[in-house]
Amino acid sequence: MATASQDAAATGQIGHYVNGEAIAGAPGGRSQPIYNPATGAQTHSVALASAEEVDRVIANAAEAQVGWGATPPLRRARVMFRFKELIERNHDRLAECITREHGKTFSDAKGEVIRGLEVVEFACGIPHLIKGEHSPNVGTGVDSHSMQQPVGVCAGITPFNFPVMVPLWMAPVALACGNSFILKPSEKDPSAGMLLAELLKEAGLPDGVFNVVNGDKEAVDVLLTDPRVGAISFVGSTPIAQAIYSTGSAHGKRVQALGGAKNHAVVMPDADMDQTVDALMGAAYGSAGERCMAISVAVPVGEETADRLVAGLKDRLQTLTIGDGLSEPEPEMGPLVTREHRDKVASYLDIGAAEGAELVVDGRQGAVPGGEHANGFFIGGSLFDRVRPGMRVHSEEIFGPVLSVVRAADFEEALSVVNGHEFANGTAIFTRDGDAARTYSERVEAGMVGVNVPIPVPMAFHSFGGWKHSRFGVLHAHGPDAVRFYTQMKTITTRWPKGVRDGGSQFVMPTM
Ligand code: NAD
Repeated sequence: MATASQDAAATGQIGHYVNGEAIAGAPGGRSQPIYNPATGAQTHSVALASAEEVDRVIANAAEAQVGWGATPPLRRARVMFRFKELIERNHDRLAECITREHGKTFSDAKGEVIRGLEVVEFACGIPHLIKGEHSPNVGTGVDSHSMQQPVGVCAGITPFNFPVMVPLWMAPVALACGNSFILKPSEKDPSAGMLLAELLKEAGLPDGVFNVVNGDKEAVDVLLTDPRVGAISFVGSTPIAQAIYSTGSAHGKRVQALGGAKNHAVVMPDADMDQTVDALMGAAYGSAGERCMAISVAVPVGEETADRLVAGLKDRLQTLTIGDGLSEPEPEMGPLVTREHRDKVASYLDIGAAEGAELVVDGRQGAVPGGEHANGFFIGGSLFDRVRPGMRVHSEEIFGPVLSVVRAADFEEALSVVNGHEFANGTAIFTRDGDAARTYSERVEAGMVGVNVPIPVPMAFHSFGGWKHSRFGVLHAHGPDAVRFYTQMKTITTRWPKGVRDGGSQFVMPTM
């Protein structure tokens, strides 16, 4: 049997992974090119599944789920233990896959794999989390117990910016809970999802329990409306998240849909400015700003704090290194994912300037690599000062290496800038004052808060999610919320025959 990666190399086209094997897209079907963002060259293409192809994958996943759902939780967890080992063994291979299609630096890609691996480690312990509850003698001779059963077929629709980590936020928990899973990766970087499917098979997962269907809206629409799919996990931009949530829920599914972000960092006058500048450089420009937890707005409190912050960032931006994420020595920042996205990010620099913001550093003028990288999707880091709420560069998610500074007169104004935004994924405060940090953590409206920590991504055994338009649906990703999302509760009340023998029919509400 050809592996998914061999298949891509042989045909130049990535197909799907169904029922334990890599298959080609249907003859004559639609496809989309895949690029190496560091060179701008097309490397291969990905098949886009038709509605009929997705229909067959769902049928397969539904059939495979029956046996997997009945498999003892401990045996399911043992597959996760083996999967963990295989991810560790294939760490570099997975990271290289990410860098070649996404563009982020190799060590950043390795970090992404680790953050996904941590969810697999969490999933190894799931038998403990789904053991249910038991209350003996809830009434005389009556016992009650609850169990958490699988939902059935679950689907995950994932964004381009974390092609390993985000699928691993979802699939290990769904699988360990006894579900089958259909992954619909981003069509911009689908190879990593195919490699995860190979590793799960090698770990001993029965065929058909984990499937990858590559595609676009046509494929997603089938997953959202087919009655055999019980749960949809989505991560991506807000307009799509909102549409996924409405359509999926209207078709009776449980849906968790994580959307876009505009994460603010408040910088108090007492913050250690060197550390803050370093932290913001990594948080704003790392992974070229293509992180849902990137800091894209800094809110310094007081003019003097703002002047020091802007001067520090401007200085540091002069030495920011940009290049192919696989080159040596490794640059600090790689290219953007596509030419279109790079051009869109660049267009915001004109939009902000026209709105009256001060473009302190223009990333279009930075040194980008030449030679075979001359056509790569590069842009340097940019810095806007004197941005005001209401400007598009503040209200919209740019999702690139652009940091906006919104100056605030005091703590209250800073807090109202953050709380006034429609996105509420993560936020951070930089200060040495425990009272300011505590008050901020309590009053800020966001799902994840960092105190002197720029990117406060919760560990795998906590749950991840924003508020407001950064998330639709009740439950967050991974951690305990994910176990609730991928299981349905059943509560059984038991009275054994002695009680029935003693009494006749009861016509009043039982009160135990
Ligand atoms: P996107 O919304 O364009 O795509 C996400 C997924 O949805 C992809 O699989 C894509 O194929 C699919 N899709 C796109 N358009 C669709 C449509 N009309 N109907 C059905 N499916 C569709 O997002 P992206 O550009 O891949 O990723 C970047 C976005 O993801 C940013 O907004 C970022 O903030 C967000 N993101 C959020 C989080 C979070 O945890 N909140 C994490 C990572 C990324």
